[in-house]
Amino acid sequence: MRKLLFLLFCSFPLMLAAQRTILHCGKLIDVTKGEVLTGWSVVIEGNKIVAVESGYRSAATGDKVIDLKNKTVMPGLMDMHVHLEDETSPTQYVDRFTQNPADYAFKSVVFAERTLMTGFTTVRDLGGSGVNISLRNAINKRLVKGPRVFTAGKSIATTGGHADPTNGYRKDLMGDPGPAAGVANGPDECMQAVRQRYKDGSDLIKITASGGVLSVAKSGENPQFTEAEIKAIVETARDYGFKIAAHCHGAEAMKRAVRAGVNSIEHGTYMDDEVMQLMKQHGTYYVPTIIAGKSVGDSAKKPGYYPELVVPKALTIGPKIQSTFSKAYKAGVKIAFGTDAGVYAHGKNWLEFVYMTEAGMPAIEAIQAATVSAADLLGVSDILGSITSGKLADIIAIEGDPTKDIQAMGKVKFVMKDGVVYKQE
Ligand SMILES: [Zn+2]
Repeated sequence: MRKLLFLLFCSFPLMLAAQRTILHCGKLIDVTKGEVLTGWSVVIEGNKIVAVESGYRSAATGDKVIDLKNKTVMPGLMDMHVHLEDETSPTQYVDRFTQNPADYAFKSVVFAERTLMTGFTTVRDLGGSGVNISLRNAINKRLVKGPRVFTAGKSIATTGGHADPTNGYRKDLMGDPGPAAGVANGPDECMQAVRQRYKDGSDLIKITASGGVLSVAKSGENPQFTEAEIKAIVETARDYGFKIAAHCHGAEAMKRAVRAGVNSIEHGTYMDDEVMQLMKQHGTYYVPTIIAGKSVGDSAKKPGYYPELVVPKALTIGPKIQSTFSKAYKAGVKIAFGTDAGVYAHGKNWLEFVYMTEAGMPAIEAIQAATVSAADLLGVSDILGSITSGKLADIIAIEGDPTKDIQAMGKVKFVMKDGVVYKQE
């Protein structure tokens, strides 16, 4: 009896381990070399890639073959700037007073699934109320479907800064949110704000180093942290293994953030030559979010869509990002793909590829920005970012060849995350 039980318990994992999935890939994008390969196989066991080889491997007993011979296979896409809790709407500024955290939670479930189904298997959530932390946990437990989420929790701002949640409120509602709520002034409070993020369960730190477009405040570009404050944030963040993403539109804010050692500049609208040189020197990534810029520029033309204070900022800053991207790319600044999803409708993230190629980046490099480079920015190159033996099985397939027609990025037909197939058309 004992022996029988032993056999029963031991043979199940063995049987599972032997089960393999073989993907027959008509085309396979090797993002490490920047090449499109023809007629390859990818072999998956459990949640890992165990072989990547030329030709179509035939199935042994028990193997499952998935035919992707008329598709282009590539690593799961990674968007380095999303907000999964919410989505742009003409009522978004009133919603803050009428919606409960549970309302945002239910919405975030829908947005997360939509993101995954359009081929994005990993995202960085760069700021919300903290619901994004619970969402990450629910996805990891497979209670809901969504991408791998690396979340900042609540962004850190200064008083009246871009991510001060009470911007534009009437006086008795403004209060003084403080470091726990992500509003910090002076190096000490900045350290406290970072430590609170650790306590909350964030994966990384997001700061709003300059003014922004959608906050109810006058400037979209003024510097909002001193360099000493950003340094305090960066040094404290490093103690906890956090990377730091800095929202910046203005050049002075970017200079302070890059010198202080942040890992990425988000948006970067008024980036000048000095900023680009500093970024190259420090190895700082640029996460452009062109689609968000275009989208806010369009929405600002609809009467009443944004508060009065926001409209002129959206009209001037928004449409500028694409030309900034073009300059930064030509200057050789490191670029990681990011869209600011939520500022526009979730699920359209792929349009960023169209805008990047329009601005002069070859399609293969845009795909690299959303895979190998994004994994590098996240610090997870050992497990994600390419279809390589030993890495986690985050793999998608699309109809058509994006290196010939970038619109193909909008035709995702197959999504596998962590070895599990979520979409197969
Ligand atoms: Zn954002």
